[in-house]
Amino acid sequence: MYYPWQQTQWRQLWRAKKEQRLPHALLFSGIAGTGKAEFAAHFARALLCQAVDENGMYCNICHMCRLTESGAHADFLWVQPEKESSAIKIDQIREVSEFIHQTGLQSHYRIVVIHPANQMNANAANALLKTLEEPPASALLILISHQLSQLPPTVVSRCQHILFPQPNQKDALQWLEKQDGLQSVNKELVLNLANGAPLAAKRLVSEGLLGIRETLFQLLYSLSQKESDPIQSAISLHTEDTLMLMDFMLSWVMDLMRLQVGAESIINHDYHAQLSDLSKRTELQRNVKLMENLIALRKQISEGFNLNKQLTWEAVFIRWAECATCF
Ligand SMILES: [Zn+2]
Repeated sequence: MYYPWQQTQWRQLWRAKKEQRLPHALLFSGIAGTGKAEFAAHFARALLCQAVDENGMYCNICHMCRLTESGAHADFLWVQPEKESSAIKIDQIREVSEFIHQTGLQSHYRIVVIHPANQMNANAANALLKTLEEPPASALLILISHQLSQLPPTVVSRCQHILFPQPNQKDALQWLEKQDGLQSVNKELVLNLANGAPLAAKRLVSEGLLGIRETLFQLLYSLSQKESDPIQSAISLHTEDTLMLMDFMLSWVMDLMRLQVGAESIINHDYHAQLSDLSKRTELQRNVKLMENLIALRKQISEGFNLNKQLTWEAVFIRWAECATCF
Protein backbone atom coordinates (compact mmCIF):
# COMPACT_ATOMS: atom_id res chain seq x y z
CA MET A 1 0.00 0.00 0.00
CA TYR A 2 0.93 3.61 -0.26
CA TYR A 3 -0.29 6.34 2.06
CA PRO A 4 -2.70 9.26 1.48
CA TRP A 5 0.19 11.76 1.73
CA GLN A 6 2.06 10.00 -1.13
CA GLN A 7 -0.47 10.60 -3.92
CA THR A 8 1.71 13.12 -5.77
CA GLN A 9 4.71 10.79 -5.89
CA TRP A 10 2.49 7.89 -6.92
CA ARG A 11 0.88 9.78 -9.79
CA GLN A 12 4.28 11.02 -10.98
CA LEU A 13 5.81 7.54 -11.08
CA TRP A 14 2.81 5.70 -12.45
CA ARG A 15 2.49 8.20 -15.27
CA ALA A 16 6.19 7.72 -16.06
CA LYS A 17 5.61 3.96 -16.15
CA LYS A 18 2.61 4.27 -18.47
CA GLU A 19 4.58 6.56 -20.77
CA GLN A 20 7.51 4.12 -20.69
CA ARG A 21 9.95 6.65 -19.35
CA LEU A 22 10.87 5.09 -16.04
CA PRO A 23 14.61 5.52 -15.36
CA HIS A 24 16.83 2.59 -14.28
CA ALA A 25 17.46 4.05 -10.85
CA LEU A 26 15.19 5.93 -8.47
CA LEU A 27 16.15 7.51 -5.18
CA PHE A 28 13.36 7.98 -2.63
CA SER A 29 14.43 10.43 0.07
CA GLY A 30 12.86 12.06 3.11
CA ILE A 31 12.74 11.63 6.89
CA ALA A 32 12.31 8.11 8.31
CA GLY A 33 8.86 6.89 9.30
CA THR A 34 6.73 8.32 6.49
CA GLY A 35 6.29 5.05 4.55
CA LYS A 36 8.87 5.20 1.73
CA ALA A 37 9.61 1.46 1.99
CA GLU A 38 5.89 0.57 1.82
CA PHE A 39 5.58 2.83 -1.21
CA ALA A 40 8.55 1.10 -2.90
CA ALA A 41 7.06 -2.34 -2.17
CA HIS A 42 3.70 -1.26 -3.59
CA PHE A 43 5.33 0.19 -6.70
CA ALA A 44 7.35 -3.00 -7.29
CA ARG A 45 4.24 -5.15 -6.88
CA ALA A 46 2.31 -2.97 -9.33
CA LEU A 47 5.12 -3.27 -11.91
CA LEU A 48 5.27 -7.06 -11.57
CA CYS A 49 1.51 -7.79 -11.52
CA GLN A 50 -0.01 -9.28 -14.71
CA ALA A 51 -3.43 -7.71 -14.19
CA VAL A 52 -2.61 -4.31 -12.69
CA ASP A 53 -5.33 -1.67 -13.20
CA GLU A 54 -4.79 1.68 -14.88
CA ASN A 55 -4.14 3.45 -11.56
CA GLY A 56 -1.47 0.97 -10.53
CA MET A 57 -3.50 -1.20 -8.16
CA TYR A 58 -2.12 -4.75 -8.32
CA CYS A 59 -4.63 -7.61 -8.42
CA ASN A 60 -3.30 -9.76 -5.56
CA ILE A 61 -4.61 -12.85 -7.39
CA CYS A 62 -2.36 -13.50 -10.39
CA HIS A 63 0.61 -15.86 -10.31
CA MET A 64 3.10 -12.95 -10.18
CA CYS A 65 1.29 -11.28 -7.27
CA ARG A 66 1.33 -14.54 -5.31
CA LEU A 67 5.05 -14.99 -5.97
CA THR A 68 5.81 -11.41 -4.90
CA GLU A 69 3.71 -11.71 -1.77
CA SER A 70 5.50 -14.89 -0.68
CA GLY A 71 8.91 -13.31 -1.38
CA ALA A 72 9.58 -15.87 -4.13
CA HIS A 73 9.41 -13.68 -7.25
CA ALA A 74 12.61 -14.31 -9.24
CA ASP A 75 12.69 -10.72 -10.56
CA PHE A 76 12.44 -8.96 -7.22
CA LEU A 77 15.20 -8.51 -4.65
CA TRP A 78 14.91 -6.59 -1.36
CA VAL A 79 18.22 -5.63 0.26
CA GLN A 80 18.47 -4.39 3.84
CA PRO A 81 21.04 -4.52 6.68
CA GLU A 82 21.31 -7.92 8.38
CA LYS A 83 20.66 -6.17 11.70
CA GLU A 84 18.71 -2.89 11.96
CA SER A 85 21.67 -0.76 12.99
CA SER A 86 24.39 -2.49 10.94
CA ALA A 87 25.73 -1.55 7.52
CA ILE A 88 24.74 -2.93 4.12
CA LYS A 89 27.92 -4.72 3.05
CA ILE A 90 29.74 -5.21 -0.23
CA ASP A 91 28.71 -8.90 -0.49
CA GLN A 92 25.06 -7.84 -0.49
CA ILE A 93 25.73 -5.36 -3.32
CA ARG A 94 27.67 -8.00 -5.31
CA GLU A 95 24.52 -10.10 -5.04
CA VAL A 96 22.56 -7.14 -6.48
CA SER A 97 24.92 -6.95 -9.44
CA GLU A 98 24.61 -10.70 -10.15
CA PHE A 99 20.84 -10.51 -9.80
CA ILE A 100 20.51 -7.53 -12.16
CA HIS A 101 22.60 -9.22 -14.85
CA GLN A 102 20.85 -12.60 -14.78
CA THR A 103 19.23 -13.66 -18.02
CA GLY A 104 15.64 -14.86 -18.38
CA LEU A 105 12.91 -12.63 -17.00
CA GLN A 106 9.57 -13.71 -15.57
CA SER A 107 8.20 -10.19 -16.04
CA HIS A 108 9.17 -6.93 -17.74
CA TYR A 109 11.35 -5.62 -14.96
CA ARG A 110 14.08 -6.84 -12.66
CA ILE A 111 13.62 -4.79 -9.51
CA VAL A 112 15.95 -4.22 -6.56
CA VAL A 113 15.02 -2.17 -3.50
CA ILE A 114 17.90 -1.08 -1.22
CA HIS A 115 16.57 0.02 2.15
CA PRO A 116 18.01 2.14 3.64
CA ALA A 117 20.65 2.89 1.02
CA ASN A 118 22.33 5.40 3.35
CA GLN A 119 23.43 2.42 5.47
CA MET A 120 25.67 1.06 2.70
CA ASN A 121 29.30 1.17 3.80
CA ALA A 122 31.83 2.89 1.50
CA ASN A 123 32.84 -0.34 -0.28
CA ALA A 124 29.22 -1.29 -0.88
CA ALA A 125 28.41 2.15 -2.28
CA ASN A 126 31.41 1.94 -4.63
CA ALA A 127 30.30 -1.48 -5.84
CA LEU A 128 26.79 -0.18 -6.45
CA LEU A 129 28.19 2.66 -8.52
CA LYS A 130 29.44 0.16 -11.11
CA THR A 131 25.96 -1.36 -11.39
CA LEU A 132 24.40 2.11 -11.70
CA GLU A 133 26.80 3.06 -14.50
CA GLU A 134 25.60 0.42 -16.96
CA PRO A 135 22.33 -1.13 -15.88
CA PRO A 136 20.66 -3.67 -18.22
CA ALA A 137 17.50 -2.50 -20.01
CA SER A 138 15.16 -4.39 -17.66
CA ALA A 139 16.74 -3.10 -14.42
CA LEU A 140 15.01 -0.87 -11.91
CA LEU A 141 16.94 -0.02 -8.75
CA ILE A 142 15.07 1.80 -6.00
CA LEU A 143 17.28 3.35 -3.33
CA ILE A 144 15.56 4.52 -0.17
CA SER A 145 17.37 7.08 1.95
CA HIS A 146 16.49 8.83 5.22
CA GLN A 147 19.81 10.75 5.19
CA LEU A 148 20.74 11.97 1.74
CA SER A 149 24.01 13.49 2.97
CA GLN A 150 25.26 9.99 3.84
CA LEU A 151 25.10 8.81 0.23
CA PRO A 152 28.05 9.54 -2.08
CA PRO A 153 27.16 12.31 -4.58
CA THR A 154 28.28 9.96 -7.39
CA VAL A 155 25.48 7.53 -6.41
CA VAL A 156 22.89 10.31 -5.95
CA SER A 157 23.67 11.84 -9.36
CA ARG A 158 22.95 8.56 -11.16
CA CYS A 159 19.41 8.27 -9.78
CA GLN A 160 16.20 10.12 -10.47
CA HIS A 161 15.43 11.77 -7.17
CA ILE A 162 11.90 11.58 -5.74
CA LEU A 163 11.39 13.57 -2.55
CA PHE A 164 8.93 12.33 0.09
CA PRO A 165 8.30 15.39 2.28
CA GLN A 166 6.91 15.25 5.78
CA PRO A 167 3.11 14.81 5.50
CA ASN A 168 0.98 17.74 6.56
CA GLN A 169 -0.23 17.47 10.14
CA LYS A 170 -3.91 17.09 9.19
CA ASP A 171 -3.30 14.06 6.93
CA ALA A 172 -0.96 12.49 9.47
CA LEU A 173 -3.42 12.93 12.37
CA GLN A 174 -6.32 11.61 10.28
CA TRP A 175 -4.32 8.47 9.53
CA LEU A 176 -3.29 8.02 13.18
CA GLU A 177 -6.97 8.34 14.22
CA LYS A 178 -7.76 5.20 12.21
CA GLN A 179 -4.98 3.05 13.70
CA ASP A 180 -5.69 0.34 16.25
CA GLY A 181 -4.28 0.73 19.73
CA LEU A 182 -3.96 4.51 19.58
CA GLN A 183 -7.40 5.46 20.90
CA SER A 184 -6.26 6.62 24.33
CA VAL A 185 -3.04 8.24 23.10
CA ASN A 186 -2.42 11.97 22.60
CA LYS A 187 -1.81 11.74 18.86
CA GLU A 188 -0.57 15.27 18.43
CA LEU A 189 2.08 14.68 21.07
CA VAL A 190 3.33 11.40 19.55
CA LEU A 191 3.35 12.93 16.07
CA ASN A 192 5.48 15.83 17.35
CA LEU A 193 7.81 13.42 19.13
CA ALA A 194 8.24 11.55 15.85
CA ASN A 195 9.12 14.79 13.97
CA GLY A 196 5.82 14.62 12.09
CA ALA A 197 6.41 11.12 10.66
CA PRO A 198 3.17 9.12 11.13
CA LEU A 199 4.59 5.57 10.95
CA ALA A 200 7.31 6.50 13.42
CA ALA A 201 4.60 7.96 15.68
CA LYS A 202 2.62 4.73 15.55
CA ARG A 203 5.78 2.74 16.35
CA LEU A 204 6.40 4.88 19.46
CA VAL A 205 3.13 3.56 20.84
CA SER A 206 2.96 0.01 19.44
CA GLU A 207 6.51 -0.89 20.48
CA GLY A 208 6.23 0.57 23.98
CA LEU A 209 8.82 3.26 23.27
CA LEU A 210 6.90 5.90 25.21
CA GLY A 211 7.62 3.88 28.37
CA ILE A 212 11.36 3.99 27.61
CA ARG A 213 11.09 7.75 27.06
CA GLU A 214 9.43 8.08 30.44
CA THR A 215 12.23 6.08 32.11
CA LEU A 216 14.84 8.33 30.46
CA PHE A 217 13.11 11.54 31.52
CA GLN A 218 12.71 10.35 35.09
CA LEU A 219 16.42 9.52 35.16
CA LEU A 220 17.30 12.95 33.81
CA TYR A 221 15.06 14.67 36.32
CA SER A 222 16.34 12.69 39.26
CA LEU A 223 19.95 13.36 38.17
CA SER A 224 19.13 17.05 38.22
CA GLN A 225 17.88 16.67 41.81
CA LYS A 226 21.09 14.80 42.75
CA GLU A 227 18.89 11.84 43.62
CA SER A 228 20.70 9.39 41.37
CA ASP A 229 24.14 8.62 40.11
CA PRO A 230 25.23 9.00 36.45
CA ILE A 231 26.98 5.62 36.31
CA GLN A 232 24.07 3.68 37.81
CA SER A 233 21.68 5.56 35.52
CA ALA A 234 23.76 4.57 32.48
CA ILE A 235 23.55 0.87 33.46
CA SER A 236 19.77 0.98 33.41
CA LEU A 237 19.73 2.21 29.79
CA HIS A 238 22.57 0.37 28.12
CA THR A 239 20.37 -2.28 26.45
CA GLU A 240 18.09 0.24 24.76
CA ASP A 241 18.36 1.73 21.26
CA THR A 242 20.92 4.52 21.74
CA LEU A 243 19.90 6.54 18.69
CA MET A 244 16.27 6.66 19.77
CA LEU A 245 17.20 7.64 23.34
CA MET A 246 19.55 10.29 21.97
CA ASP A 247 16.64 11.74 19.96
CA PHE A 248 14.39 11.79 23.05
CA MET A 249 17.07 13.55 25.06
CA LEU A 250 17.83 16.05 22.30
CA SER A 251 14.17 16.93 22.08
CA TRP A 252 14.10 17.42 25.87
CA VAL A 253 17.22 19.68 25.88
CA MET A 254 15.90 21.70 22.95
CA ASP A 255 12.62 22.24 24.80
CA LEU A 256 14.60 23.48 27.79
CA MET A 257 16.33 26.00 25.56
CA ARG A 258 13.01 27.05 24.01
CA LEU A 259 11.65 27.80 27.46
CA GLN A 260 14.82 29.69 28.37
CA VAL A 261 14.41 32.05 25.42
CA GLY A 262 10.74 32.59 26.19
CA ALA A 263 9.12 30.37 23.54
CA GLU A 264 5.58 29.30 24.36
CA SER A 265 5.35 26.13 22.39
CA ILE A 266 7.41 23.05 23.24
CA ILE A 267 7.42 19.46 21.92
CA ASN A 268 7.34 17.51 25.20
CA HIS A 269 4.35 19.34 26.66
CA ASP A 270 3.47 16.34 28.85
CA TYR A 271 6.65 17.25 30.82
CA HIS A 272 5.98 20.97 30.85
CA ALA A 273 6.17 21.31 34.65
CA GLN A 274 9.51 19.51 34.99
CA LEU A 275 11.01 21.28 31.97
CA SER A 276 9.84 24.64 33.21
CA ASP A 277 11.44 23.97 36.61
CA LEU A 278 14.70 22.87 34.93
CA SER A 279 14.72 25.87 32.62
CA LYS A 280 15.13 28.03 35.72
CA ARG A 281 17.81 25.81 37.21
CA THR A 282 20.08 25.42 34.16
CA GLU A 283 22.14 27.81 32.06
CA LEU A 284 21.33 28.32 28.40
CA GLN A 285 25.03 28.29 27.43
CA ARG A 286 25.59 24.88 29.06
CA ASN A 287 22.45 23.49 27.44
CA VAL A 288 23.70 24.66 24.03
CA LYS A 289 27.00 22.82 24.63
CA LEU A 290 25.11 19.70 25.71
CA MET A 291 22.93 19.87 22.60
CA GLU A 292 26.02 20.15 20.37
CA ASN A 293 27.55 17.18 22.13
CA LEU A 294 24.38 15.09 21.63
CA ILE A 295 24.19 16.03 17.94
CA ALA A 296 27.83 14.99 17.43
CA LEU A 297 27.21 11.64 19.18
CA ARG A 298 24.04 11.09 17.18
CA LYS A 299 25.95 11.66 13.95
CA GLN A 300 28.63 9.15 14.93
CA ILE A 301 26.04 6.50 15.80
CA SER A 302 24.01 7.01 12.63
CA GLU A 303 27.21 6.71 10.58
CA GLY A 304 27.77 3.26 12.06
CA PHE A 305 30.41 4.01 14.75
CA ASN A 306 30.17 1.28 17.32
CA LEU A 307 30.21 3.35 20.53
CA ASN A 308 30.30 1.61 23.91
CA LYS A 309 26.78 2.29 25.19
CA GLN A 310 27.67 2.26 28.87
CA LEU A 311 30.57 4.73 28.44
CA THR A 312 28.55 6.93 26.09
CA TRP A 313 25.67 7.26 28.54
CA GLU A 314 27.97 7.77 31.52
CA ALA A 315 29.61 10.70 29.71
CA VAL A 316 26.23 12.16 28.66
CA PHE A 317 24.74 11.83 32.15
CA ILE A 318 27.81 13.34 33.84
CA ARG A 319 27.58 16.29 31.47
CA TRP A 320 23.84 16.63 32.10
CA ALA A 321 24.32 16.41 35.89
CA GLU A 322 26.88 19.21 35.61
CA CYS A 323 24.39 21.30 33.61
CA ALA A 324 21.52 20.71 35.96
CA THR A 325 23.30 21.09 39.28
CA CYS A 326 25.57 24.04 38.50
CA PHE A 327 23.31 26.54 40.28
ZN1 LIG B 1 -1.49 -9.45 -9.93
